[in-house]
Amino acid sequence: MHKNFKNIEKVVYGRGSFETMDAILEPVRKENNHFILFIVDNYFTDKPLKDRIPVKEGDEIRFIDVDPSEPTTEQIDSLRDEILNSKGIPAGVVGIGGGSIMDIAKAISLMFTNEGSSTLYQGLNLIKKPGIYHLGVPTISGTGAEVSMTAVLTGPEKKLGLKCDWTVFNQVILDPELIASVPTDKWFYTGMDTYIHCIESENGMLNNAFSHAYAEQSLKLCRDIYLGDHAGQIPENDDKLMVASLMGGLSLTYSEVGVCHALSYGLSKILGEKHCYANCIAFQHLEDYYTSGVAEFKTMLQKHNVTLPQGLSNNWTDEQITAMAHVAYNLPHMWNHAIGADWKEKITIDTIKALYKRM
Ligand code: NAD
Ligand code: ZN
Repeated sequence: MHKNFKNIEKVVYGRGSFETMDAILEPVRKENNHFILFIVDNYFTDKPLKDRIPVKEGDEIRFIDVDPSEPTTEQIDSLRDEILNSKGIPAGVVGIGGGSIMDIAKAISLMFTNEGSSTLYQGLNLIKKPGIYHLGVPTISGTGAEVSMTAVLTGPEKKLGLKCDWTVFNQVILDPELIASVPTDKWFYTGMDTYIHCIESENGMLNNAFSHAYAEQSLKLCRDIYLGDHAGQIPENDDKLMVASLMGGLSLTYSEVGVCHALSYGLSKILGEKHCYANCIAFQHLEDYYTSGVAEFKTMLQKHNVTLPQGLSNNWTDEQITAMAHVAYNLPHMWNHAIGADWKEKITIDTIKALYKRM
């Protein structure tokens, strides 16, 4: 029952630390075909950061639009095949962007060495061989994808991560300057993912002193950022949010997420809602499970003038609600943590449908 988790091998943190990337990559470049594959959020196509990326002759750089959908198995497979067929296996992969880009970088690093479609490996410890070197540079903070041992992909059948020790980044660069440009709504939703990770990690069977220590510190930072005297998107809070995201991710690694994430997966898989926004949509209605957390979340919404839509379920068909309930129900580890080992006696498809109908 004891979790034995791998952490990121190396982390550099601080304003301007993006500049360390060139030197960090130098020894990596000696592997395989000596080129680096950079996967960068499309947002940076015409931003000054683009010219600071240490791209050398022979390297590949791909700008990816993460907004139409969350990363898919098909997207990973076709990018992998295209690079393999044209240039072979890179020396390393660098992901520069949010949770979506972190997951794409992690997944493709594994898929360069594991044959077939990534759909074969959605689940725990299904990956057969270590992937190639991968480095993550978050540019929006909150999901904890920079530290987690999963690369969440949506496939034809399921939304589920490639989860194993080799998924974890070899190196992460945490430069708070990079998140300054995040628009306020995304800053709020993605930051709330950290907050919800901590509330769910704390409120469940698997909570322990180790996960609690991370959650406690991460929650303190979230409260400073979103509720404190200097709340808001200021540099001091960007410094804190990067650390809160990392610690929130570590907290749930050693504990688990719960009801909100189960419901959120349904919203993403069936309706295509983005993870952090979907969490916010669900969390506001979960006062039965997380009373004080939901109350505090509503204070944060008010403080930042964020309005979440109400009555969404009026426009959902019973078929959609049932499909979402099945997605959520099929995440037993989350219910087990949140409700207890006897969760099936308390939570049915109908219970979950009723939760969706609150939205
Ligand atoms: P994202 O990567 O989906 O990006 C959100 C938006 O922010 C995009 O429009 C992007 O262009 C923009 N953006 C990113 N950086 C910016 C910057 N510096 N300035 C301006 N705009 C910027 O965002 P996310 O919320 O971090 O990630 C969501 C994804 O993370 C989902 O696919 C979800 O499944 C995944 N996720 C993974 C894990 C994990 O452990 N692997 C955990 C939670 C969520
Ligand atoms: Zn999350």
